[in-house]
Amino acid sequence: MRSSFDYVIVGAGSAGCVLAARLSEDPNVSVALLEAGDEDSAPEIRIPAATLQLAKTKYDWDFYSESEPGLGGRSVPLARGKGLGGTSSINAMVYMRGNPGNPTDFDNWGTDGAPGWSYNDMLRYFIKSENNERGASKYHGSSGPLSVQNARYVHPLSERFIEAAKQAGHAYNEDFNGASQMGVGHFQVTQRDGERCSVADAYLHPVRKRPNLHVLTGALVLRIQIEGRRATGVTIFRCGNEETLRAEREVILSAGTYGSPQTLMLSGIGPAAQLKAFNIAPIVDLPVGEDLQDHVLAPVGYRSDERSFMHAGSAEDVALYMTKKQGPLTSNVIGTGAFLSTKDERSVPDVELYMAPVLISDINSPPSADGFSIAVSLIETSSRGKVMLRSARPDAKPRLLTNVLTTADDERRIFAGIKAAMHIARQPKLAEVCVSDFLVPKSESDSDMRDHVRKFAMTDRHPASTCGMGRVVNSELKVLGVDGLRVVDASVMPTVARGNLNAIVVAIAEKASDLIAGRRS
Ligand SMILES: Cc1cc2nc3c(=O)[nH]c(=O)nc-3n(C[C@H](O)[C@H](O)[C@H](O)COP(=O)(O)OP(=O)(O)OC[C@H]3O[C@@H](n4cnc5c(N)ncnc54)[C@H](O)[C@@H]3O)c2cc1C
Repeated sequence: MRSSFDYVIVGAGSAGCVLAARLSEDPNVSVALLEAGDEDSAPEIRIPAATLQLAKTKYDWDFYSESEPGLGGRSVPLARGKGLGGTSSINAMVYMRGNPGNPTDFDNWGTDGAPGWSYNDMLRYFIKSENNERGASKYHGSSGPLSVQNARYVHPLSERFIEAAKQAGHAYNEDFNGASQMGVGHFQVTQRDGERCSVADAYLHPVRKRPNLHVLTGALVLRIQIEGRRATGVTIFRCGNEETLRAEREVILSAGTYGSPQTLMLSGIGPAAQLKAFNIAPIVDLPVGEDLQDHVLAPVGYRSDERSFMHAGSAEDVALYMTKKQGPLTSNVIGTGAFLSTKDERSVPDVELYMAPVLISDINSPPSADGFSIAVSLIETSSRGKVMLRSARPDAKPRLLTNVLTTADDERRIFAGIKAAMHIARQPKLAEVCVSDFLVPKSESDSDMRDHVRKFAMTDRHPASTCGMGRVVNSELKVLGVDGLRVVDASVMPTVARGNLNAIVVAIAEKASDLIAGRRS
């Protein structure tokens, strides 16, 4: 096996798969894609409704947060994909791009130290990456690798949510990724004909046979090799041995919002005081791992006398899926949702609602009765957390403190979001099937709301911003103070975008590929 490449990419997740495919389009460059996890061969990855079964398997790093002050001191699960496709192989497949309103998420990035990342810059790459079954338009592409489709199956309770939200005054939005995110509607999903389309399915698998692309699974990157102030390669642990792979042009870190800062710190790039505490000699003192941002998620739930999604998976459903790729098993469960602002005058959302036609109190426990849940996600946040080292050992899990809900403003917004969800649940279209409350705050007082979120909130698993542009990398995603090293993944977002992050990471990696290859966008 060769040990020298032009580009060495660390992590075959959403970003890494795009980079590997785009950079290896040039047959004259060699690309190594290194992934700590395995091949993405499990059937649960392909079958949308089986997604939850991937938690705590070999496809999940199974991280947990530190004790969270904003969540009553609880430690909450922070799933992350491990294996080809990374988190896009275990995510909920909602296709979402962040907010195009005024100001857009991306225009804010410009003022946060990321010029060149405006909404229009990103739109070009959203379109380039997308193959939307609705066809090409001002906002959409139909010839990119990432398959985006309407959900093949939407549960009747999810349709009721749309009608109830309209009764509560929310306008129907035909396309959350068009002119505006606001309103209630059906989510489109990253699927191809009833199966998950992970970023590995979209970008990597179709080009795996290129002779200049070398994909190594089971390769844990221990640290980046740095000579003077230049990254020259990586040290990996694979099949029981340590090896060094050389990067003639660049090392590109795409290990995700937790993995990228951990690898930088283990390589001497990070907060000097923290590195010294672990006997790691600091090479560049940067705020790596700081400014962790995530969307916090709080559920409300109601028992219903209409059959819920808990009955999906019957022999009939399995047969329908196996023969026609139709029916409940094609569902990502959250088929419908809404974006709203907790401040009436604004045209940009700070809350995303997901309708789940099933009771959830604990994401890892099966529901015990028919019912539905509305999960309230706070998509604009002022709370800031941290990724820190636990140990100087690269196989030790990092310490992750999300710090969600630690500002008064975030508390106010999530309380308002929960009240908006409860208001929708009280509208006739849902009220007529509601039997009783299952998981709701005792009252709408601040103290009962606080009690509810402290007991039941978790994160939406949208971590970002631990290697933010303007702080750790520049607007070309180059690590400040080190040559030959970039970070390309969700960690570079200066602030976390409003909405689900996969499509945004794909667009970031598309733009990064052009920057790295010196191509005009
Ligand atoms: C349960 C869940 C549901 C979600 N649902 C949605 C959704 O519906 N829609 C949406 O848009 N987003 C969703 N997301 C978020 C979205 O999928 C992620 O934000 C996105 O995939 C992150 O991409 P990334 O490239 O930054 O990181 P990842 O895709 O996590 O990639 C990082 C890769 O690096 C590898 N790696 C890490 N460390 C090392 C190392 N030292 N050596 C080698 N390899 C390493 C990892 O194994 C992984 O493959 C969800 C996330 C979760 C967890």
